[in-house]
Amino acid sequence: MGGLDSVYAEIDRAQARWKESSPFHCADGCGSCCVGFEPDVLESEALYLAFWLLSTGDPRAASILEGSFVPPRSDHESGCPFFDPVNPYHCTVYEGRCLICRLFAYTGDRGKDGRPRWKPCKFLPLEGLDGGLDRRAQYGEEELLARFGAVPPIMSDITAGALALDPDSAHSRLPLREALPRAIARIRMILSFTEAPTEPESPDPEVPNPLVS
Ligand code: SF4
Ligand code: SF4
Repeated sequence: MGGLDSVYAEIDRAQARWKESSPFHCADGCGSCCVGFEPDVLESEALYLAFWLLSTGDPRAASILEGSFVPPRSDHESGCPFFDPVNPYHCTVYEGRCLICRLFAYTGDRGKDGRPRWKPCKFLPLEGLDGGLDRRAQYGEEELLARFGAVPPIMSDITAGALALDPDSAHSRLPLREALPRAIARIRMILSFTEAPTEPESPDPEVPNPLVS
């Protein structure tokens, strides 16, 4: 989780540089990328979210374990159980959210030649931007550097960094709703080992000790 925390912090730093350089920013309250989407997660991502829920005392951790958690969705979509269509911020586990959730909108990919490229999300507002920017266009590295002096962080590079923390986990991704209960159980057990032991009761001098003959 410490390694994943570093990956998440690096995502924040790299995206901040791209956001400063480029004119593209998600519209306040958009969240359309989460509506019908549920992340498939590595175990480390599920453990990170589980630890965040438990360490913040979030009562949803217990209800997820007991199977009584009710997703805050009123839109009858089958996507992520933590998406709230009414809440203006939509994601109800924002600080603990999964890797892919941190990559939406502000990362690019690599073309066949291995060079960075970027395609704006179809929901990104482009109105009012100068320079004939086109939502449907794929921007290559050269054009990105010419227009903005920067390229976005690359999704596959970041994902490789997360996978390097536990290479064997690459083929065992699970939908978030399946991975999270077992991650919560695991973190809760580990946390129980870290709790201060209670003072043992003094032995009753009248009761014979079977370990001493
Ligand atoms: S965890 Fe949050 S950001 Fe990720 S899919 Fe669910 S609602 Fe969206
Ligand atoms: S990535 Fe696209 S869909 Fe998601 S919040 Fe940004 S603009 Fe909206």
